[in-house]
Amino acid sequence: MIANEPPVIANSLWTATANMSAPHPPLTGSLETEVAIIGGGFTGLSAALHLAERGIACVVLEAETPGWGASGRNGGQVNPGLHPDPEEITTRFGADMGGRMLRLSGTAGQLVFDLVARYGIDCDARPVGWLRGAHDAAGLRDLHHKAAQWQRLGAAVEPLDAAGIADLSGSAAYRGGLIDHRGGNLHPLNYALGLAAAAVRAGAAIHGHSRVLRIEADGSTHILTTTGGSLRARRVLICTNAYTDAFAPGLARTVVPVRSVQVATEPLPPEVLAGILPGEHALSDTRRLLLYYRRDAAGRFIMGGRGAYGAAATRTRMKALRQVSAKLYPQLDGVRWTHAWGGFVAVTTDHFPHLDRLGKGIMAGLGYNGRGVAMATAMGRVMADWASGTPEVGLDFPVTDPRPIPFHGLRRLGVAATVAKYRLLDALGL
Ligand SMILES: Cc1cc2nc3c(=O)[nH]c(=O)nc-3n(C[C@H](O)[C@H](O)[C@H](O)COP(=O)(O)OP(=O)(O)OC[C@H]3O[C@@H](n4cnc5c(N)ncnc54)[C@H](O)[C@@H]3O)c2cc1C
Repeated sequence: MIANEPPVIANSLWTATANMSAPHPPLTGSLETEVAIIGGGFTGLSAALHLAERGIACVVLEAETPGWGASGRNGGQVNPGLHPDPEEITTRFGADMGGRMLRLSGTAGQLVFDLVARYGIDCDARPVGWLRGAHDAAGLRDLHHKAAQWQRLGAAVEPLDAAGIADLSGSAAYRGGLIDHRGGNLHPLNYALGLAAAAVRAGAAIHGHSRVLRIEADGSTHILTTTGGSLRARRVLICTNAYTDAFAPGLARTVVPVRSVQVATEPLPPEVLAGILPGEHALSDTRRLLLYYRRDAAGRFIMGGRGAYGAAATRTRMKALRQVSAKLYPQLDGVRWTHAWGGFVAVTTDHFPHLDRLGKGIMAGLGYNGRGVAMATAMGRVMADWASGTPEVGLDFPVTDPRPIPFHGLRRLGVAATVAKYRLLDALGL
């Protein structure tokens, strides 16, 4: 079970099948380092690993344990690219910065699989590609347009017709789709735990149960006060994404935390499993309220989708995910579902991740819009570049000032209303 979470979202398959990991004792007393990293998910752990590889002293402060946030709970889909299309990226950011962002995000999956190989991380990594299925004609046009844009950039992304996606998914539900050969899937919590172990071996320090309560400037350094101690650092990286709390209220208002939930079966017998994603791909569809699903290494089927804020509504969403699974794969009718859990995705209003400067010597990376397995790993490396001296203009992602969302306190209501509208439109096929 995920510690310190309501039961309705705590029964995580990934926690139940996590590798043993070394303890990360809380920070006590006063410590000094070059770079302080707040948050021990993919962003913070990748930043720590890349800094430690360069011999730069760094300390990760994590409120719970490494991988506790979205990084240890997600679908484990290694999805290259950003939410917006390549053309939109170059139009908006220009050929130079747009090109850098496309290279960074397009190779982010490769970065993940390279780190897994380099550090021998035991996380069932499968670089088999990422499938996307079009549930209607508009979705098909969109996916084929995306595939064509990436192909023009030389990326290994192929459009699929209805027969092609049916072969790879084992379901006749799609009009067509694409396969992005740069992606794949893995066990997300074991990937996070492996990154943490690699960072510690490389020289980083990680303190669990060390929630940062405040950051204060002191000359050219910053003092971070935690529940048990304090840390002085020259630079600070904020990597708390959708879980950003009271220590950085302005930053928390730049993203909307949206709940996503997953349900998983028991390991399925080979005759049931044979027709489901036979190449062990993960798949995301084009519904407004996206469904994403896959198998795990033990042959369980895992379905994910949009959750809700309240417990009863969350249970209803989980039930709907079980029902839609049996519609896609009738052989799942009657199987036993053993796990159900969820967490927060950080959504931005422009659908781009943000790399925000928060005063001198403090940088935040967040807002992956549900695409953080690969991109948070890549962003962590960009943040390590900045903390090791690369000027802002030399980074592979544009640095911005935080842009708080107006009426942020009301966003939950807005999300709930939008979800209801999208569910209706998806149901009507519009
Ligand atoms: C259910 C679900 C499914 C998803 N599926 C996918 C998927 O299949 N593919 C994909 O690419 N992305 C997916 N995502 C998104 C992806 O998981 C995230 O984008 C990514 O994990 C973000 O990593 P992070 O390190 O930035 O943040 P997190 O992993 O959320 O880590 C933030 C950490 O900060 C800590 N923290 C917060 N406040 C403090 C404080 N004051 N002091 C110290 N520590 C603090 C938290 O405890 C937390 O551990 C999914 C997300 C969810 C929730």
